[in-house]
Amino acid sequence: MFAKLKSQLHAQTLVAGDSGYDEARKIYNGMIDKHPGIIVRCTTAQEVSQAVRLAREEKLEVSIRSGGHNGAGLALVDGGMVIDLSGMKGIAIDAGKQQAKVEPGNTLSEVDQATHEHGLALPSGIIGSTGIGGITLGGGLGYLSRKGGLTIDNLLECEVVLANGDRVTANATEHPDLFWALRGGGGNFGVVTSFTFNLLPVKNVYAGPMFWPMEKAAEAMRFYDKVTKDAPDDLYGFFAFLIVPSGDPFPEHLHGKNVCGVVWCYTGDLTGAEDVFAPIRAFGPPILDFVSEIPMPALNTMFDQLYPPGLQWYWRAHYVREFSEGFIAQNIAFGKAIPTMHSTTHLYPIDGKVHAVSNGDTAWANRDARWAQVIVGVDPDPGKATEVTNWCKSYYEALQPFAMNKGAYVNFMMEEGAERVQSSYGDNYHRLVKIKSKYDPDNFFHINQNIKPE
Ligand SMILES: Cc1cc2nc3c(=O)[nH]c(=O)nc-3n(C[C@H](O)[C@H](O)[C@H](O)COP(=O)(O)OP(=O)(O)OC[C@H]3O[C@@H](n4cnc5c(N)ncnc54)[C@H](O)[C@@H]3O)c2cc1C
Repeated sequence: MFAKLKSQLHAQTLVAGDSGYDEARKIYNGMIDKHPGIIVRCTTAQEVSQAVRLAREEKLEVSIRSGGHNGAGLALVDGGMVIDLSGMKGIAIDAGKQQAKVEPGNTLSEVDQATHEHGLALPSGIIGSTGIGGITLGGGLGYLSRKGGLTIDNLLECEVVLANGDRVTANATEHPDLFWALRGGGGNFGVVTSFTFNLLPVKNVYAGPMFWPMEKAAEAMRFYDKVTKDAPDDLYGFFAFLIVPSGDPFPEHLHGKNVCGVVWCYTGDLTGAEDVFAPIRAFGPPILDFVSEIPMPALNTMFDQLYPPGLQWYWRAHYVREFSEGFIAQNIAFGKAIPTMHSTTHLYPIDGKVHAVSNGDTAWANRDARWAQVIVGVDPDPGKATEVTNWCKSYYEALQPFAMNKGAYVNFMMEEGAERVQSSYGDNYHRLVKIKSKYDPDNFFHINQNIKPE
């Protein structure tokens, strides 16, 4: 069957035994080792449409790959067809309108570089190698969330190949139900072959990490909570527990030490940035302070070298509404027990402009949270996979009493079952099921955080 498909498909294809097949089935998470039947490297929407129709005829399971960053490995499918969009790299910027039309194969770093040339930026994630496709459809949290909302809050239009192979445009007036579902509903509704975004006028920022010793962690969490609650939308910071990497640019006396810290991003008037940070610097004082003026793309790629593709990743996530004393104590206990240098936890703020949109306005249903916390067990050595996974799971279990609900940000989930997906969409789930039933009644797109049709 795959030989027949190879001859029919217009796009480049790879099957087991082809040179490049093993490279093409590698994704960001080194724990994932799937063997697709055929990888279809689409470069146009027509090629995607043909791949969808042929996969349907052959009754093949289909996965969609953009940047390949999904922790659970949902970009790949064993034995089925991978629709690989990583070659779709078009980006067109309309500087006058402050908009960008972006194909799904771009990484965040590629989008950043292109927009930065025009003094513009898209609110999105914190690691440059992440794919624009998956992060957008799941929501999109990052340094500019407080100032500009989620990535989906800046999404104006999508071009989509539906489960029957038809191509449609979804925006506020054309297929508005589909457009609503695409903003948070992940890859459930079709293959998005183009995104049109609104951009923000952001060029340089006053940003970077600031660390405090573990002995100050409880005070630091309370201080951070207070500062960010009352701050203007230009001041963003995500809180973290981590181990300081052993090497430049970190001072030697901190190498290998467990610390807590915040990675800040200030987007206001840069001439006043020192004044904004004066009271923050007065707390502690910090044992490391790398906060300074930098170009936005430098911030968005600051941690890329530390987290290259191919490491072992296991993660768990939940939503947090407040820093109670119990929550603080558990985070400190697990922050002291981080198993490897790459393992960490991040608390990504959900505030500012994310709160300006209501839960029912898009499929993304947890805007009443204040943070999305992700706990990541990471190491280059496959021999440490069990250790990092166990730390992550027990940390997650210990925080369950403090979680806002039973859901999580779908982009931070492993394969955790149907109930968890439903909880993540809360009151929006039934509307999503209706839209799924209309656009994909036989659940053709199910290698994802799956919303099952009626
Ligand atoms: C190191 C790292 C850092 C991260 N940082 C952040 C962050 O700062 N903020 C944040 O919000 N998230 C972050 N994430 C999570 C990230 O949003 C998800 O992993 C997301 O799935 C990555 O998108 P991708 O295109 O790279 O993924 P892929 O693995 O290629 O795709 C994941 C899934 O998305 C769907 N999908 C992808 N593209 C399309 C498309 N064009 N059409 C239809 N469906 C599609 C499919 O269901 C697919 O299975 C991070 C992940 C990692 C590993």
